[in-house]
Amino acid sequence: MTMDKYDVLKTYFGYDTFREGQELLIDSLLGGRDVLGIMPTGAGKSICYQVPALLLPGITLVISPLISLMKDQVRALNEAGVHAAYINSSLTEGQTMKALYNASKGQYKIIYVAPERLETPSFLSFACQARISMVAVDEAHCISQWGQDFRPSYTRITAFLERLPERPILGAFTATATERVREDILCVLGLREPQVLVTSFDRPNLYFSVEKPADRQEYILDYVKDHASESGIIYCGTRKAVGGLHDYLEKNGIDSLCYHAGMSNEERRASQDAFIFDEKKLMIATNAFGMGIDKSDVRYVIHLNMPGSLENYYQEAGRAGRDGERSECILLFSARDIMLQKYLIEHKETDAELDSETKEAIIEKDLERLRVMSGYAATSRCLRDYILRYFGEAGSPYCGFCKNCDQEYEEIDITGEAVAILSCVQEMRQRFGIHMVTGTLSGRTRAKLMEYHVDRYASYGALKLLPEKDIAKRVDTLIQEEYLTTTPDRYAILKMTEKGRRLLKDREEGVPVVMRVPKTAADENRGFSKAEKSDIIKQERGKERLSDVLTSRGLMLFDSLKACRLALARTNGVPPYIIFSDRTLKEMCIRLPRNLEEFKSLYGVGRNKCALYGETFLQEIEAFTAGRDEKLYYGELPDVLGLTAASGRKKPRRRDAREI
Ligand code: ADP
Ligand code: ZN
Repeated sequence: MTMDKYDVLKTYFGYDTFREGQELLIDSLLGGRDVLGIMPTGAGKSICYQVPALLLPGITLVISPLISLMKDQVRALNEAGVHAAYINSSLTEGQTMKALYNASKGQYKIIYVAPERLETPSFLSFACQARISMVAVDEAHCISQWGQDFRPSYTRITAFLERLPERPILGAFTATATERVREDILCVLGLREPQVLVTSFDRPNLYFSVEKPADRQEYILDYVKDHASESGIIYCGTRKAVGGLHDYLEKNGIDSLCYHAGMSNEERRASQDAFIFDEKKLMIATNAFGMGIDKSDVRYVIHLNMPGSLENYYQEAGRAGRDGERSECILLFSARDIMLQKYLIEHKETDAELDSETKEAIIEKDLERLRVMSGYAATSRCLRDYILRYFGEAGSPYCGFCKNCDQEYEEIDITGEAVAILSCVQEMRQRFGIHMVTGTLSGRTRAKLMEYHVDRYASYGALKLLPEKDIAKRVDTLIQEEYLTTTPDRYAILKMTEKGRRLLKDREEGVPVVMRVPKTAADENRGFSKAEKSDIIKQERGKERLSDVLTSRGLMLFDSLKACRLALARTNGVPPYIIFSDRTLKEMCIRLPRNLEEFKSLYGVGRNKCALYGETFLQEIEAFTAGRDEKLYYGELPDVLGLTAASGRKKPRRRDAREI
């Protein structure tokens, strides 16, 4: 049987339809045309070259910069029944020779290779004899000196291509969208009249929110308790914060992993593996964690500290939900983080050779990025819209799937309170941090306060009608609005700014100080009926909570299928998410397949996985239902699955894809 692209998609990967943009790139490659695909993380770039690789006559080389990524991809391909291998520095000389020998015998359809391996004599001699139909360059932005991840070895790719007897079709893929990087890729790689495709950077299944809890550790504790069965990452600004949070959670009975640059390579690898293989669900890390992590079922990413730029934030938060299922990205905000980032920018080590003008310019740019990031934390507009606009896409002012769209805010005038706070700071001669100030204003009698005799100040108890944590929120607003600033050390002493001094002088005559607060009550549960709810659910797949789709018995089955998946993963030495995604398990709970034929039709079940794992899951389902017909989900079947009645070979929506 000759296969076409749809057969390949279903047989090997178990999917029925292509996603936005995939088909165009695949068709171009199959037609012999070079491509450049610019798509966000999780959009499904790999399918764009893996499907053609299986249809083209010869071998496809995939050039990839990270060993862990290669391993993950090759593992996933082998699970899908595709013969693939990788060649990189993690192999011994002997293993490399063996792999190349197998490759020359035509054993592999797809070979992942590190760029520095391309021009080694053994690889070159293999490549010159083999039939190479296509070369796919993954993470193609590594070729650009303008990007953050420039790798000199990438610039050697063209030299390698020139040495091949026949030029293969060339595909380049990246998630980095800046114009300059794109130009570089086109030019340095020498793509020939390529089909360029840029898809939207929106990640519709990610729910964004900004929270300002009084106690961030407590917030996290509550959150992870509520999400104990899900994988999640918590990013912290410093190694110390990683350790601190880890200890705090441990004291409260929560087990977690750590990852930061201060750990040995060995420790980091062990920690990463434990996360990927689901031995532990929670990872607490600095931004050192994540490059090359393909774990697709990360259900939440929380930032304990605000990163220095929206680029970094979106990249880190974007590690949630690669599998397209609902996931949450939460930024915990405290105005102090702005000071910390400012400090880091101003004390950043720069190249000693740079002249002062260039240094100034770099700092200016970093500060501008920081302003954009702080703006995200402060905005009451749609958060998704804020992000997309920054990346140059026209968003819509209401996405319906972020905290700000869910929540109505009102602005309250806090000018009077602001004046009280500023007076207190001044009266205390700008020598104390926030706790002393809020304690004084609310008239507390803590030992530390009494030690400094704060009760002699006129501001003592001036705001005693407000809970202390509400005073703290007002102080935060004043920092954010730059009436106050804090020293960037760990004491975070509150200092007046020029703007603050002016306010004190003009008092109520100047502009009012306003604070944005969530509208209370009424809003919490906006009173949707079940039917309305399922109406909302069906609007877009990937946004619903599992508990909105499955009944409690359904959730029970889901859990036992998860356990079953974990056991299989342990036996076979592959990460659970490579066996089946959560979405596939969810479909099992909904459709309750009774035989392999039905099992094969599920989302994400290809031929090979059906043969490998079908029986095990069928038995589990059979044992659960005892052969009874059951309905373990709310709503109607096609709605729940987000499918239209006639699925299969329908044209994909290419909504926001721009062809160039
Ligand atoms: P990227 O490399 O763009 O970050 P991946 O190639 O890792 O993304 O794909 C992300 C996830 O989406 C993977 O789990 C992949 O199996 C899944 N995926 C890709 N294409 C499709 C499709 N057409 N239908 C369903 N799932 C898909
Ligand atoms: Zn929104």
